Amino acid sequence: MQDCSGQRVVVVGGGVVGTLHAYLALRAGAEVEHLERDAAPHGATVRNFGLVWVSGRRAGAELALAQRSRDLWEEIAGEVPGVGFRANGSLTVVADGPEADLARAALQLPDAAERGFEWRDWSEARRVNPVLEGDFAGALWCSRDAAVESRRALGALREAMYETGRYHYSPRTDVVGVHDGGVRDHRGEFHGADRTYLCVGGPTHGVFREMHEGVGLREVHLHMIETAPHAREVPTAVANGDSFRYYPAFENLRHLLSPQESTAAEWANQLLVQQRLDGRLTVGDTHEVPSETEFWSSEAAYRVIEEAAAAVIGDLPAIERRWTGIYVQIGERDDPRLYHRAEVARDVWTVTGVGGRGMTCAPAIAEESFS
Ligand SMILES: Cc1cc2nc3c(=O)[nH]c(=O)nc-3n(C[C@H](O)[C@H](O)[C@H](O)COP(=O)(O)OP(=O)(O)OC[C@H]3O[C@@H](n4cnc5c(N)ncnc54)[C@H](O)[C@@H]3O)c2cc1C
Repeated sequence: MQDCSGQRVVVVGGGVVGTLHAYLALRAGAEVEHLERDAAPHGATVRNFGLVWVSGRRAGAELALAQRSRDLWEEIAGEVPGVGFRANGSLTVVADGPEADLARAALQLPDAAERGFEWRDWSEARRVNPVLEGDFAGALWCSRDAAVESRRALGALREAMYETGRYHYSPRTDVVGVHDGGVRDHRGEFHGADRTYLCVGGPTHGVFREMHEGVGLREVHLHMIETAPHAREVPTAVANGDSFRYYPAFENLRHLLSPQESTAAEWANQLLVQQRLDGRLTVGDTHEVPSETEFWSSEAAYRVIEEAAAAVIGDLPAIERRWTGIYVQIGERDDPRLYHRAEVARDVWTVTGVGGRGMTCAPAIAEESFS
């Protein structure tokens, strides 16, 4: 990391990418002004699973970024326990036949050991995670997967940043203009800095729209549910075999799978489950292009998620919350670009397009901004 002592850094956006930029700028010695449009951030970050998901990342640069980021999360959580990091690993539950064949083939990938992949027979998987139900062949264990508490982490990090005496946070401050050396907010105030980072998540509105034309940013819409607290501890994250269809780590093995069940395919559904520290289960998800005409969320999508969860965990606690979220990724799903960083005015950079890996990779992305 560069030494930023004596420098002034402005960060726009209070989601995980902006907050980690602010955190690492302070660590590098800068004075930081952090601007957020809303009273509290409610973009992609607070809607996600909080999964630090190493298992699914594409071999090479993407995996290296995720591995570095996971280490940084662990290190940061040592400084800020409120982040809620836990190295709980994941079990991807697979049925006999093609899914189990793929899981076993994944054990032979050159980076399988680096990911912490191991096979678990069904009885062993259930010993590790006793809430699993049903009759499956086994599970792919990934010891490097981890989790954080997305909805608590941002506030916990801000509290820690205040303690430096070099951090100023302004919610309800909407950036509407980008200029050489800084940004202008909706009140007309100019925020000048040695470096400015625009971390606004989905920059498809206002002044940001034009700035990102031609970059190839794509929105993906997801459905999510959250249950009442589960009576038991769910000691690992849980996925099902459909997740192999969507994560690029498995792109060269996908030919082993049979076609996905039609309703699940219609919603591009995979099962991911992560228990919150308060016992609730965050369960998802679907992947759709957001509709330009429909503004509602679909019961059919939620049903697909519930059915996938019930097949692996049995009776779910009552569902207490449903929501949708949008992330913005660069290019199509298999695009090798990891995210978009560009200088859009003198000493002003945009950092966006991190896609479905932003919670995992934000610390390492922020580190790259200061290296
Ligand atoms: C449902 C769902 C589940 C996901 N699960 C995971 C997961 O488990 N693991 C994982 O790695 N990734 C996951 N992702 C992806 C991850 O959540 C995103 O990549 C990440 O949160 C993006 O962070 P961000 O800071 O760029 O954006 P955001 O969290 O959207 O934050 C952007 C912030 O910028 C602010 N802002 C916007 N415009 C302005 C402006 N003009 N002025 C001031 N502020 C502004 C917004 O109010 C917002 O608070 C998931 C995404 C979704 C939607």
